This record gives sequence, C-alpha cells and structure tokens, in this order.
Amino acid sequence: MDIGVDAGGTLVKIAWWAKGELVFRAFPAAVLDDAARWLVSRGEETRICLTGGRAAELAAKLPLGTETTDEFRATCRGALHLMKQQRLDMPERFVLANVGTGTSIHVVEGTEFRRVSGTGVGGGTFVGLSYLLTGISNFEKLVRLAEQGEPGQLDLLVKDIYTMTDAPIPGELTASNFGKAAAAGPAGAADRVAAVLKMVAETVLVLAMQACDKYEANKAAFIGSTFHNHPLMQRTVAGYEKAAGKKVVFPANGWMSGAVGALLSLKEAE
Ligand code: ADP
Ligand code: MG
Repeated sequence: MDIGVDAGGTLVKIAWWAKGELVFRAFPAAVLDDAARWLVSRGEETRICLTGGRAAELAAKLPLGTETTDEFRATCRGALHLMKQQRLDMPERFVLANVGTGTSIHVVEGTEFRRVSGTGVGGGTFVGLSYLLTGISNFEKLVRLAEQGEPGQLDLLVKDIYTMTDAPIPGELTASNFGKAAAAGPAGAADRVAAVLKMVAETVLVLAMQACDKYEANKAAFIGSTFHNHPLMQRTVAGYEKAAGKKVVFPANGWMSGAVGALLSLKEAE
C-alpha cells in the first residue's frame, strides 16, 4: 500500500488508493501522534511519502524508510492531478492559490510551477481572529456562524463613503474591512465571523488576481482546507469573479492536493 501525507500547520492530510479511487482522511496536526499511530497501523509493507512543514517531525515518529518530498512541488502536482481527473478545463498557465493556515500563491505552467507570492492571511486567520472576537475556535462552528452573519454591519463599503456622488470604483466593493465597526458599536458574534471570513476571502482573491495580471493568466484555482466544506468561503471568493474579469475554480478535494502529490511521487520513484 502507498500513502501520501501532507503534514501542515493545522491538518495532516492523508491520501491513498483503494480500488483505483483516491481515498482521504485527515488528523489535526496538534495530535501528530494520532496520525503517526494510524500510519504505523497500516503495516510494514506500506510505503509512505511525506510533505509539508511538519513532515520531518512526523517522520521522526515513524519507523525508518519514509520518503519526503518538496511541499510546493507536491501541492502543484497533486492539484494538477485532481483537476485533470475532474476534467476541469484549465489553461496551460494558471494561478494556484493554496489557502491553508497561511496562503501561498503559485503560477503553474504545464508541469512547471513557481511560488510567486503569499500572505499570512489564510485559514489560520479565519479561525484565530474569529476566536479572539467570539471565543469560538471550532472550525465547523465558525463556518455555520458566519453563514448567519452579515459582514455589511462592520465593513465600510465604497458607497458608504461616496454618498452624494458617483464612486470611481463599484460601490459594493469593500473600502475598509471592519472600517465601520467602531462607529457601529457592539456587533453580534455571527456578524464578526462573517466579516473575518470576508476579509480573508478578499485578501486571497486580490493576491491571486494580481498574480493573474502579472503572469498573464486568466484563471485561478483555489485549494487548501480553508475551502473544505466551506461553501460560503467559496461563494465569497467566486463573487468577485466578474469584477476581476478572471475565472476562479475550486477543485473538488483541493485540500488533499499536497497529499495526492506526495502519493504520486511514490509512483514516480518506482
Ligand atoms: P495546513 O496545510 O497549513 O495545515 P490546510 O490547507 O489544512 O493548512 O488549511 C488549514 C485551514 O483549514 C484552517 O486554518 C481552517 O481555516 C480550515 N479547516 C478546515 N477544516 C478544518 C478542521 N477540521 N479543523 C481545523 N481547521 C480546518
Ligand atoms: Mg498546507
């Protein structure tokens, strides 16, 4: 049995083949021992390839003989594989935004890839800042809460500033995330989380679009667990598609890209 593992800052993502289909599972990175125990229980015949920032730490908990591979390479390869499998219509060159705990922006061209930018604003910001604002740290709970919120209570829009005159840019664009918060007074927990979600979505979208402009790409694929079971985050990013004039896609199982890439590199090494 072959297993690919992407041990990131928040989640350990695992992928393997069963009857020709990819199968996935994840463990919180905070309990690396659980992931290690599960991997050991797969048996001695198992070949494991690890990637991600905590790959070495996880490898140290496993019997000798695991392989490791470069995280960016694995992520881009895995994403390409998933998109091909899903028959997504991708151009030769596109931007790949991996919104994990933090965010990395890559340009992919054919099978070549390059990390071109990134930001510390990512899924970790969604959870961390939401926690500071609400006391809730559970991802699923925050996702549900955000859906009940209204970011407009806290965000200052362009049209809020340009009151009696036409704005030079669309009025619905955010002029300032949380820019209305101090004037608006106490806001509900759902509104706060919704505003954090919007700030994260807008930040990663802007960076991805800038990369599209700079590298002359007209499509961006968004991956990373920040979008996993998080339709509102996907919808918020996709909501800017028209204004940005570029296509955005969210490959299914995109959060498993690194694990799939690590799995594929075992095959390659055969
Ligand atoms: P990393 O590779 O850095 O671990 P991921 O791509 O796994 O990053 O994304 C981590 C982010 O995904 C978290 O910060 C959070 O926003 C979101 N997330 C999705 N599912 C979960 C979950 N079950 N537990 C915690 N965070 C989750
Ligand atoms: Mg990652």
